[in-house]
Amino acid sequence: MKEPHMSNPALSERLASLQPSPIIVVVNAARALKAAGKPVVSLSIGVPGFLPPAHVYEAAHKAVDADSGDYLPGRGSPALISAFIASLQQRGFTYTETEVVAQVGGKGALFNLLLALINSGDEVIVPAPYWASYPEMVKLVGGVPVCPTATAANHYKITPAQLQAAITPNTKAILWNNPSNPTGMLYTAAETAAIAAVLAAAPQVWVISDDIYDHLVFDKSAPRAAHVLDSQPQLRDRTILVQSVSKTYGMPGWRVGMVAAPKLVTDALLALTSQSTTHLPAVPMAAAAAALSGPQDFLHTQTARLLGQRNETLAVLQSLNLPCPTPEGAFYAFPQIAPLFGKTTPAGTKITDDLSFCTALLHEALVAVVPGSAFGDGGAIRISYAGKPEELTEALSRLKTFVQGLRSLADED
Ligand code: PLP
Repeated sequence: MKEPHMSNPALSERLASLQPSPIIVVVNAARALKAAGKPVVSLSIGVPGFLPPAHVYEAAHKAVDADSGDYLPGRGSPALISAFIASLQQRGFTYTETEVVAQVGGKGALFNLLLALINSGDEVIVPAPYWASYPEMVKLVGGVPVCPTATAANHYKITPAQLQAAITPNTKAILWNNPSNPTGMLYTAAETAAIAAVLAAAPQVWVISDDIYDHLVFDKSAPRAAHVLDSQPQLRDRTILVQSVSKTYGMPGWRVGMVAAPKLVTDALLALTSQSTTHLPAVPMAAAAAALSGPQDFLHTQTARLLGQRNETLAVLQSLNLPCPTPEGAFYAFPQIAPLFGKTTPAGTKITDDLSFCTALLHEALVAVVPGSAFGDGGAIRISYAGKPEELTEALSRLKTFVQGLRSLADED
């Protein structure tokens, strides 16, 4: 890329504090090594590791054949809207057409929501560890992220008391994600109800519930994650549900997200996108509608596979004595690596923090993982374990050899 030149006009002040997604930074570094012929295995990006069922592709082909070439409704295609409403109904939530709207991925939905809800200086509660984009998005729209922190000892879950303490008269919203990226933690029904009770007593707060992993849970007795609306249905007037086909249906590249919310909010999103992206492309919408309305039984196979890969990952972490609360959903593990700080690799690199660990692991063992500081915990790394089984096994074996090869000065005495 061309370096900025002294004569370039300035960028906006808004961008001054923007951190590019560290996940994408790691992914690009890994891709560059791969392009240079190195057999890098990536456990970095959150791709679910499977492709959607055949009927999704059939629907996409049909949409190409039927294309009118016209602009489409801003809310989304009728097929997508009704498939989304039906999937919400299956979860026990009733929404009408005017209360739902399609967006460019869950990410696009979250960004537009913050743009629609947050004034300069408003506080947004972002429990840490958090998805790396949450605080950056909040800052981009002029808000202030407030991050009550959950420790590994507390299974990376904030307590109702922590939430209560984080709420101030300036709190405008909370970004709530269950199960969690990056930790894989799942708030139980009782824990979710306790959090919802605190939110019910804070009437000025919008609850943005990022539900995009809520199908991917390992507890067979409760196939979907608990939701704040289960125990506090009256929160519906200020709760916003964010969904996406990316993780559940193996469709991250199709960029289809959806929002269910009070009409005030969906109208705001429609107004915003009428001046920006206009609407989603026809073919991804047709594919997403087919994914949502088609048979869902493949999900059992995929969650069973993810559970097996989680167990394989945990077994390696345990053998290395790296503490890692057991993930109960999504497809991430978030082990603590602080016990390795101060050690040195066989190539002579000193591990001083999560970043130096990830850099050395990438260059010396050809495994890509993301530094925990991207998610608000510099003592950890995030492993995305959803990829191809043979690649996961290979990456874990390289990780094991790498960690076992670290030496402390005391070892050399
Ligand atoms: N929310 C969380 C917690 C995520 O992990 C991601 C993607 O990694 C997203 C939202 C956005 O997903 P997408 O834009 O692909 O729907």
